[in-house]
Formats: sequence, structure tokens, C-alpha cells
Amino acid sequence: MSAHAPVAVPALVDPFGRAISYVRVSVTDRCDFRCVYCMSEDMTFLPKPDILSLEELDRLCSAFIRLGTRKLRVTGGEPLVRRGIMTLFGSLSRHLDSGALDELTLTTNGSQLARFAAELADCGVKRINVSLDTLDPDKFRAVTRWGDFDKVMAGIDAAQAAGLKIKINTVALKGFNDGEASDLVAWAHGRGFELTFIEVMPLGAVERERFEQFLPLTELRAALERRFTLSPSRHASGGPARYYDVAETGGRLGFITPLSHNFCESCNRVRVTCAGRLYLCLGREDSADLRTPLRRSEGDEALEAAIRAAIARKPKGHDFVIAREGSHASTSRHMSATGG
Ligand code: SAM
Ligand code: SF4
Repeated sequence: MSAHAPVAVPALVDPFGRAISYVRVSVTDRCDFRCVYCMSEDMTFLPKPDILSLEELDRLCSAFIRLGTRKLRVTGGEPLVRRGIMTLFGSLSRHLDSGALDELTLTTNGSQLARFAAELADCGVKRINVSLDTLDPDKFRAVTRWGDFDKVMAGIDAAQAAGLKIKINTVALKGFNDGEASDLVAWAHGRGFELTFIEVMPLGAVERERFEQFLPLTELRAALERRFTLSPSRHASGGPARYYDVAETGGRLGFITPLSHNFCESCNRVRVTCAGRLYLCLGREDSADLRTPLRRSEGDEALEAAIRAAIARKPKGHDFVIAREGSHASTSRHMSATGG
């Protein structure tokens, strides 16, 4: 712990001895895209009074930080479409200044980065994740339904110009970007970005059957190995990705395989929705309401007690299943609701 950190409150440790030091907080369930694997075309969004205000989000994040959170990822929906979002980044940056927080970061679709990249850097954000599934503008429009490829590229340029380190996240989609995987690697590494491929997860109902979208990363990796030499990297992020170094590009490649590889043993994270619901595991329904204790009192004792009580029942792991029949969605909520 940093020399500046306040006197330690006992950290959050779950029943399996895992210290919970990483929180992903969704600041909105809305988005300017409708990625086919993430949202259905006509989504129902939460009514405004259900959504935590920026002040409430700050209180919530600050409570987690007091309880030992060292890394905070702001996500959504699309976090940068939340009105006033820079106020939240600005206020949370005090925890970086004090040394209580190691990292403040975000996951974004990149559409608003041209506008916000410099401000994010000013708020102490050093690295961001940008989701990008294809380099073809037409395919980009098809997979995001509403997205503008050029705008995202301009956003990525702005982020790089602002000095932000960029990691590209690509969801592997059968029959969509499998043929493009090595071009994506060459592009990302050519620009000095890390790239991580993610298997599609069965979260929430979307129009197409999951098995139609699911591309095991073992297959994708085999295709990549026809062009690149991959060797296991010593890099470990503490997260679910497995890393490889690519000899030809000198870059790093991650694979997140929630379906074919179980990464729960080392899980250090929880997620909070924009309505203040704490999910203990991405693949499970169990959750805790933090909004009620947050709104019930001005002090944070009830909120902290609710967080502690929830962590005490964090499950050991998840079990996603994608089968041809009968398991359309293993959780009823979409990734955009839980916060990716
Ligand atoms: N809108 C932002 C973005 O797209 O980066 C942040 C939220 S989005 C829900 C976070 C990540 O979840 C994105 O990288 C997206 O590709 C991924 N994602 C969404 N639905 C998914 C699913 N069903 N399976 C796997 N990844 C998914
Ligand atoms: Fe929006 Fe991100 Fe979901 Fe795409 S993946 S619809 S950009 S929240």
C-alpha cells in the first residue's frame, strides 16, 4: 500500500480468500451503438430515477476505495455518453492523487474519445480499453448497427495523441471476424496497442442464437499461428486473460476464454451496475442492492456494511454453457447492464 494511503480498514476478502481489489462500475446502461452480441435492437433502458447520480457514483466508488479497491474501471453501456461523466472522472482522480487508488481506467467503444481523450488524461487516466471488432467500415456498421468507424478511428488517434495507452478488445465472432484476426493483430501491434480477443459470452437475449456467434479461441489461435509465432508471455495482469508474445510484431496478445477455460480461482473483481446493484460474479445472478443503503443515509456506514455483507457471499465461480438448444442466455441481463 502507498505511503499516502489512509490508515487501513481491513480489506475486502471473500470466503475463498480472494482479496477484492478491482471494481468495475457501469455509469450508464445506454449506448450510442447496438452491437449485435451485446444488445438487442430495441433495448429497454432503466428509468432515470433508478440510475445513480454522479454524486452517488462518486460516493459508491469512494466507499469501495476505502475498503481496499485499488483499481477502478468505468464502463457501461457506453460510459462516455453519460452526461457530465468528466465530472466523475475529475472527482475520482483525487484518489489517484492521494495514493488510495492505483488505477482509474475505462472501457469504451471509442466513439466519443476525440472529444474526451485529453480530459481523461488530465484526470490521471493512463490506459484505456477500446472495443473494436473489425477494421472494415461496412462490417463495423453491421456489427455495431449504428457505429461510425471513422469516428472511432479519430477517437483512437486522439487517445494516442493524449498519451493514453490503448488496449483493443475484440470479440471473436464466427463467420464475422475470424478471417480478419491476423490483420487486427498486425494493425494493433503496428500502432503500439495491445490486443485481446474475447469469446462471446451468453449474457442477455439477443436476436441470434449464441452458438451461431461463438468462435472458440482455440480455433482463432490456430488461424493466427499460420501467420505469427506465438509464445506464452510472462506477463500476467491478474485478470482472466492469457497472454502471448508475437515474435513478428513484438506485441502482446491476450485471449479471454470464459467458456473454454475457467479463470475464477484468481478472481479479484466485482461489478456494480448504474443502478447500484453489486454483482459478485459476471456469470451468476446473485447480487446486492447498494442503492438503498446509499440513498437511505448521508453517511456511508450502511453502504459499507452492505458491500461487506455481499462480498462475504461471493461465489466460487461461474459455469457458462452455450449449447445448440436450450441455453440461449445463461444470465438474463446483458453485458451492457452489468458493465463489461
Ligand atoms: N461500450 C463500451 C465498449 O463497448 O467497450 C463498454 C461496455 S461493453 C459492454 C464492454 C465489453 O463487453 C466490450 O469489449 C464488448 O465487446 C464486450 N461484450 C459485450 N457483450 C458481450 C458478450 N455477450 N460476450 C463477450 N463480450 C461482450
Ligand atoms: Fe454499446 Fe459496448 Fe455494448 Fe457495443 S459492446 S452495444 S458499444 S455497450
